[in-house]
Amino acid sequence: MKKISIVVPCFNEQETVNIYFDAMTKMRLQANKDVEKFQIEYWFVDDGSSDQTLPTLKKLQQAHSDEVHYISFSRNFGKESALYAGLNAVTGDYIAVMDVDLQDPPDMLPTMFDILEQGEYDCVGSAREDRKGENPIVSFFSNAFYGLINKMSQTKIIPGARDFRLMTRQMVESIKSMTEYNRFSKGIFSWVGFKTKYLPYKNHERVAGTTSWNFWKLLKYALTGIIDFTERPLAIATWFGSAFSLLSIIAIIAIIVRKFINPFSSVNGWASIVSVILLIGGIQLISIGILGEYIGKIFLEVKRRPIYIIKEKK
Ligand code: UDP
Ligand code: MG
Repeated sequence: MKKISIVVPCFNEQETVNIYFDAMTKMRLQANKDVEKFQIEYWFVDDGSSDQTLPTLKKLQQAHSDEVHYISFSRNFGKESALYAGLNAVTGDYIAVMDVDLQDPPDMLPTMFDILEQGEYDCVGSAREDRKGENPIVSFFSNAFYGLINKMSQTKIIPGARDFRLMTRQMVESIKSMTEYNRFSKGIFSWVGFKTKYLPYKNHERVAGTTSWNFWKLLKYALTGIIDFTERPLAIATWFGSAFSLLSIIAIIAIIVRKFINPFSSVNGWASIVSVILLIGGIQLISIGILGEYIGKIFLEVKRRPIYIIKEKK
């Protein structure tokens, strides 16, 4: 019988942990009803929660010590770190990553399992069919993000792809070998390659609790994604620089020619000069800003700080 390991990041999820576990148990019993297909190993990662998440996980672990494990961080390191810690702990043949709020439907797992068992694919993921029920502003920026990153980066990201997926051990080993500090899982999953099948997914509301993402966090996350997987923005400065150098050469020639034709022309046009200076100054600052973003990431990367710190593990 195959073993599925499931990595479940939890940040202030005291209300959802038990609901999630019950739904998963129901799914497992249903899937193994006729033939024993798979057993499950859970790796809950408490990402520095400040509520009763850890005690809840401990209770769950005591009650189901054969299948439930938990890792608890010394503070909040973010979902990406939690996923990485979980992947480092798993022992199963197939590995899934899942949110604990039941936005990733447990019922999809048996289907994913069957597809992997056929051997053609290394990974089965899920991608949203629509963005119904989502804030239109968030949808607009999400779409803009996918358009932008797929234009600029070699690493393609399926629009609406969720982190929820079932992977082979081999694929997980490759993901573990990516030890970068700035982690963007959607990009990492795509970067490692392997054959992935995406199942359509209909948006589900969270069963309980509240989302820990707001607009600014999402925007920051999107920028991390772009900076981690493409160097193209760095070229913007080069392009603007070349274009403006060319323009200024043409302007200089025009001025010299005008001086010869009409040596006593009056001084005017200061307003246009000021606006050109402001424009170029702005572009220079933007270019320095882009450089700064990359240097900031390099700074964090070279410090080689651990991606997470474990306080407890069972
Ligand atoms: N999460 C986490 N660390 C964080 C934020 C979130 O481990 O700093 C977990 C959270 O508990 C949940 C998953 O990541 O299991 C997705 O978070 P959430 O549901 O808040 O995001 P959304 O579904 O709204 O994108
Ligand atoms: Mg959620």
